[in-house]
Amino acid sequence: TLPTDTSVSRRVPVTVLAGPTAVGKGTISTYIRENYPEVWLSVSATTRPARPGEVDGVHYFFVGHDDFHRMAENGEMLEWAVVHGRNSYGTIRKSVEDAATQGKAVLLEIDLQGARQVKETMPEAKFVFLAPPSWDELVRRLVGRGTETAEEQQRRLETARIELAAEPEFDVTIINDDVKRAADELVTLMGLTPKSDHEE
Ligand code: 5GP
Repeated sequence: TLPTDTSVSRRVPVTVLAGPTAVGKGTISTYIRENYPEVWLSVSATTRPARPGEVDGVHYFFVGHDDFHRMAENGEMLEWAVVHGRNSYGTIRKSVEDAATQGKAVLLEIDLQGARQVKETMPEAKFVFLAPPSWDELVRRLVGRGTETAEEQQRRLETARIELAAEPEFDVTIINDDVKRAADELVTLMGLTPKSDHEE
């Protein structure tokens, strides 16, 4: 068992958002980044190369394998995981601790393996599962994104099928049928006041 890490979560509420690949966690994160500056959205480190439009230090810290694993060995990661059997992703402990000094509510958008690690070290965090409206819709979103090869899509669909079964491990489920609606539900759970301008 990992040691319990309450240094951050004693001071600020920590919410973990996880869910299957392509469910729209990234879209929800972008919406929250742009509309809720009062939320401290953790910027993860990753060994994955940046996609077009992604900015280093905003969407991720894009680092090499050696740097990533040195940080992990030095205990600089709150959690980390190899996602889709390929690249490493991790939450930088210092970045989350900075939120505590600002008194901001922390949001971690991470994969299921990472969520399970946080549950061991910060059991008092709030665990939110983002679910697709249906399996067909999830497939449509994954294929429609067009950023992965067919082989990679297949790999991610297999991961998604397994991840969907983890829903009962979470405190609450939000269905991502509409980005603004789902994001507002999330910030409400975080104790913030949602924006009321989400009529279409
Ligand atoms: P993508 O490559 O599409 O940006 O992200 C792939 C997956 O990595 C997503 O499921 C995302 O939630 C997850 N992920 C992003 N950052 C982290 C992190 O810091 N830790 C963990 N465990 N997963 C992460």
